Amino acid sequence: MGKKQYKFSSKAVDCYFDADFSLLEKLVSQENAIIITDDNIASIYKETFKGWKVIAIKPGEKNKQQSTVDHVISELIKLQADRETFIIGIGGGVITDIAGYTASVYMRGIKFAFLPTTILAMVDAAIGGKNGVDVGVYKNLIGTIRHPEFLLYDYSFLKTLPKEEWINGFAEIIKHACIKDAAMFELLANNSIEEFQNSPAKVAELIKRNADIKYNVVSGDEFETGERKLLNFGHTLGHAIENIYKLPHGSAISIGMAAACKISETINDFSATDGKRVIDLLKKYKLPVYLKFDKEKVWKVLLMDKKKAGDTMNFVLLNKIGEGIVKQIRLHQLKELFNQVRKKFAKSPLGDLGV
Ligand code: ADP
Ligand code: ZN
Repeated sequence: MGKKQYKFSSKAVDCYFDADFSLLEKLVSQENAIIITDDNIASIYKETFKGWKVIAIKPGEKNKQQSTVDHVISELIKLQADRETFIIGIGGGVITDIAGYTASVYMRGIKFAFLPTTILAMVDAAIGGKNGVDVGVYKNLIGTIRHPEFLLYDYSFLKTLPKEEWINGFAEIIKHACIKDAAMFELLANNSIEEFQNSPAKVAELIKRNADIKYNVVSGDEFETGERKLLNFGHTLGHAIENIYKLPHGSAISIGMAAACKISETINDFSATDGKRVIDLLKKYKLPVYLKFDKEKVWKVLLMDKKKAGDTMNFVLLNKIGEGIVKQIRLHQLKELFNQVRKKFAKSPLGDLGV
């Protein structure tokens, strides 16, 4: 087991990598703790959670809404949760968001920790302190920045993770490779999702490497004035299409990354050869790379993006593989660039979603 501290301005987060669920009992008292998870995980891990108080919500991004938070709060009241209560979010990104956000506002803030159970949550959602909910189609429109007390990584939970959720998580891993880690891009190109699925050692190492990338980017810029924006690579178009077309997050940002590569080729000297390598890697990990989207509908959602500042948008481009850069693009130019990309997508021979 590897213990490490992720240090942020407001908190040092203890990270237990390669740990076992049983460690939880030593970190918090069962008496004070309440697990927040979803129905799928609660049913698969019923035996594991024996002896713990559990609140289970309906799974899926469509339930990452304020009404679910209200429901969790009413359950907390039923369990007489007070300021000593310790919330443990066990699940994917939806659960870390809901659990972290609820814990941040319940009685003006109680302690919480995460045990991420998806690749996506392990390498991304559990780290960095952002918690919140969607408002209709608008992703993460309300929320807080507050860090958990600790993160417990028990990779054995991945044994039950459905294949499509592995694919989803690898979209964020490929994102990290594109913006920060050319060597990891090579590693991914020389492996496959199945190889990682079948090798616990390989996947443990990859998750740790990606958690560190996320931590390093976030800790250098906690309040997202510069470097942290790089993590939005693929997420501008991605977030706009995700809820409109009910796409998995990984698929949405994969399409967004493919679009951002095309735009990088047009306005940033990113080479077409590198562009093709990114597209090929996304396809290798079974991610879609284009979508014939409704441009007006998507543009309307895009205008509510938190990355918009006045009449410009902070948009992430690639200089080369392993090096992202944030550029301010005027909205009218961005709209034109997206329309060009959309035309390229529409010409693709494979239909609506290029897998
Ligand atoms: P993310 O935001 O990390 O992609 P979600 O919270 O939306 O993840 O979870 C994705 C789906 O995978 C949900 O249906 C959830 O119940 C399920 N899930 C999460 N972790 C596991 C696991 N370890 N085993 C089985 N199913 C899981
Ligand atoms: Zn993401």
